[in-house]
Amino acid sequence: MTGYIDTHAHYSDEAFDGDRQTLIGSLFESGVIFIIDPAIDLKSSYRVTELASLNSNYYCAVGIHPHNASEAHDSDYDDIAALIEKDAAEGSKKIAAVGETGLDYHYDFSPRDVQITNFRKNIRMALKYGLPLIVHDREAHQDTFEVLLDEGAFKGKVLYHCYSGSAEYAELLLKYGCYFSFGGAVTFKNAKKFDSVLKTIPSGFILPETDSPYMAPEPVRGTRNDSLNLRYIYPALAMRLGMSEEEFANKMADNTSRFFGIRINSI
Ligand SMILES: [Zn+2]
Repeated sequence: MTGYIDTHAHYSDEAFDGDRQTLIGSLFESGVIFIIDPAIDLKSSYRVTELASLNSNYYCAVGIHPHNASEAHDSDYDDIAALIEKDAAEGSKKIAAVGETGLDYHYDFSPRDVQITNFRKNIRMALKYGLPLIVHDREAHQDTFEVLLDEGAFKGKVLYHCYSGSAEYAELLLKYGCYFSFGGAVTFKNAKKFDSVLKTIPSGFILPETDSPYMAPEPVRGTRNDSLNLRYIYPALAMRLGMSEEEFANKMADNTSRFFGIRINSI
């Protein structure tokens, strides 16, 4: 068994203030082999970079989430770019992507035009530094796709995190080489919509995630999520793809390694 991979967990979140480092240590002792922690703003970009520097097999993404777009100052983007340049110059390569970023028209916490400007700035950073882009798209499929296309984002690597679109939209995105990550929602009682989506996406374009501390899977739905809950998500995904759990785990390791360009060592 290869071990669990979490391509999307927010351990910089305040939900982990009480036990962050102990918890991260215990995850790696209990079957998790690789984590990517995406930032949501400048402050968390510093935090995830620090967490990645403290833990091996722990990587991060830096960027600004659509919810936080209206609070971001122009200088925040320069400071995030400086973090990426520092990481590259030191050769630590712990920054694996730009994100999470994108558009959220469900909550609309930031005005839509501000979200779009923020999304564009994040995409430009990803392209400038040759990093993959982690995209959050909630009820904003049309604009998300148009901005990605307009900015030439598909020249680089694009990951749709917590994919919630249709099979048809996935087909379109596949033409542009997008990857898709799935988490706790595939275990929910109303998860039937994933049947057709997961039949459409070739297994080589699928990545696993938790979105911790949010989106805890069944049977622990509603609790603080962490990467060990992949033990519920992996079987749900493997079953839908018609794979054994071991086959699925190996596939996820290969896909993650290829997408982020990082070698994954089992512990
Ligand atoms: Zn997230």
